Amino acid sequence: METAFISLGSNLNHPIKQILEAYNQINELDNITVSKLSSLYKTKPVGPQNQNDFINAVATIKTKLTPIDLLYALQRIETKHKRKRSIKWGPRSLDLDILLFGKLTLNTRDLTIPHPELVKREFVLIPLLEVTNQDFTITKYGKISKYI
Ligand code: ADP
Ligand code: MG
Repeated sequence: METAFISLGSNLNHPIKQILEAYNQINELDNITVSKLSSLYKTKPVGPQNQNDFINAVATIKTKLTPIDLLYALQRIETKHKRKRSIKWGPRSLDLDILLFGKLTLNTRDLTIPHPELVKREFVLIPLLEVTNQDFTITKYGKISKYI
């Protein structure tokens, strides 16, 4: 079993509902248990500003899946939510990213762990802090408190 952190984000079609449904769908997957869900945070969009505010959250999960199988499982849930991949940083019904996977660092075509934008994004750092603590170490980057 490995502990991983997933970010959940949505700014289309009832974002709060999208996030809560995604939480349930992740929890129902074989080989994944959600152990914590942060509060839901309302945040301003990064990039194009002519779109709705986002709802963001971070979940702590325990899983036996490999990182790539975890990514595929999350992408299947995104697809169920009618996620369309179009404009970079544009509106989306659901975005599920792997932030951290145990102490693993990985850099492949399809998967970079820790998530490369993690320490630059307040909308991920704040909920990550909520499900961890001030002394939590972000693999490769150091203490979370350095970035908040
Ligand atoms: P973004 O999340 O950057 O807004 P997408 O959700 O469309 O955009 O993801 C684009 C690609 O990012 C995915 O197809 C996936 O292969 C890749 N990717 C790389 N690292 C990660 C990660 N840690 N978590 C999720 N996706 C990742
Ligand atoms: Mg994504």
